[in-house]
Amino acid sequence: MKSLDELTFDNRFARLGDAFSTHVLPEPIAEPRLVVASDAAMALLDLDPTEAHSPVFAELFSGHKLWAEAEPRAMVYSGHQFGSYNPRLGDGRGLLLGEVYNDAGEHWDLHLKGAGQTPYSRMGDGRAVLRSSIREFLASEALHALGIPSSRALCVIGSSTPVWRETQERAAMVLRLAPSHVRFGHFEYFYYTRQPEQQRELAEHVLNLHFAECREQPEPYLAMFRTIVERNAELIARWQAYGFCHGVMNTDNMSILGITFDFGPFAFLDDFDAGFICNHSDDQGRYSFSNQVPIAHWNLSALAQALTPFISVEALKETLGLFLPLYQAHYLDLMRRRLGLTEARDDDSALVERLLGLMNKGAVDYTLFFRKLGDQPAAQAVRVVRDDFVDLAGFDAWAVEYLARLDQEPGNAEGRRARMHAVNPLYILRNYLAQRAIEAAEGGDYEEVRRLHQVLTRPFEEQPGMQAYAERPPEWGKHLEISCSS
Ligand code: AMP
Ligand code: MG
Repeated sequence: MKSLDELTFDNRFARLGDAFSTHVLPEPIAEPRLVVASDAAMALLDLDPTEAHSPVFAELFSGHKLWAEAEPRAMVYSGHQFGSYNPRLGDGRGLLLGEVYNDAGEHWDLHLKGAGQTPYSRMGDGRAVLRSSIREFLASEALHALGIPSSRALCVIGSSTPVWRETQERAAMVLRLAPSHVRFGHFEYFYYTRQPEQQRELAEHVLNLHFAECREQPEPYLAMFRTIVERNAELIARWQAYGFCHGVMNTDNMSILGITFDFGPFAFLDDFDAGFICNHSDDQGRYSFSNQVPIAHWNLSALAQALTPFISVEALKETLGLFLPLYQAHYLDLMRRRLGLTEARDDDSALVERLLGLMNKGAVDYTLFFRKLGDQPAAQAVRVVRDDFVDLAGFDAWAVEYLARLDQEPGNAEGRRARMHAVNPLYILRNYLAQRAIEAAEGGDYEEVRRLHQVLTRPFEEQPGMQAYAERPPEWGKHLEISCSS
């Protein structure tokens, strides 16, 4: 276990130079205080968890102090926002402090979000508010616990620094960890600004550090693109299977590693609603829940366009064509497991689709449905969940088919409950739970954020005394409007 001053840096992205990022020092926020820290994220850096409570911890992650070996940089990128190309984005309020490697030799980017203005801030103040920092922290750690690839969050540091959004709020910083912060938009930037040499340098960098296995392939860049397609297909399958809605799937928010990245107005579904739009500013529903699948494909084609200097159009198209079938296969596999099915059959897709249609009609709680379904032997369980549906005849017909399908699987009933509970969470980050924790934190009480974080680190295990965290939202918590402003 290390202390904060024992971290070892190796700033590989910074060494790419000024065409890729700009040196910027973090601008401190006033009266920094620890809101919440993740022991599990600290372990990724071999950090002793008690370090979170040392005064220097809050100083380091609020811009007051910096390691001598850190090289804070704002990265340049561009991207497609809501379908339109924006030629110049970049880190407008976050800084890559440096890359730390742990005893296992894994490198982690330390990214401080809310660290002040940079050359890419445009009209923005370079800040992040407490509310959005807490949401990013909780979501990163909760997704990871659910087995959904995500950037991680080490801590949130609050402050007394005022910032203006719709009203006056307080600035905070969140320390994000990821093996890389390279986005689709990095490749788009060098492609559209016609800097082929820098683009190649970026591709080589990413290939060497993050896709080393692709080097062995006859066409390494194509193999890398294929891996990106595969990882995104799996990522989106997990989002859809667990009801996660990202909300701002612009290409600058898409990680080349295929991890969930840049949290804004995201939401987990409470009631199942295929057309759910979590981003209050998304008038057209471009990033609605069910659109996430075609949008991920669209985003990959935007990345493919940027890779045309290196890879033939035919090969790119063919590889893009893998996305949907791969997505479908992963998604069906997850949904089968959520339903307690152990074998694949031809009509599984229809069984899942019919169920979702019925849930949609009846506004059935998406998370609790699967948990209840696994709680008891199947024949009893369908009688319990039946009460939540409005189309009872439709549900009964579905249940007959589902039970018949289970009967065809030898030994399915054995260990069913444990098997299903291991993939069907009891606790998810419902918006109203986050909202309640944020309101307490805005009043200076961080206990609720910390408790919620603890509950969400073990989403599949029933935790004594925590029943309240597994409940459907109360009336006030059903239609919270989460805007993009953060
Ligand atoms: P996002 O919607 O958070 O993914 O941000 C899109 C772009 O706007 C990125 O280039 C951000 O760095 C930038 N940005 C967002 N909020 C701010 C802010 N408060 N100040 C400066 N830049 C910002
Ligand atoms: Mg972003």
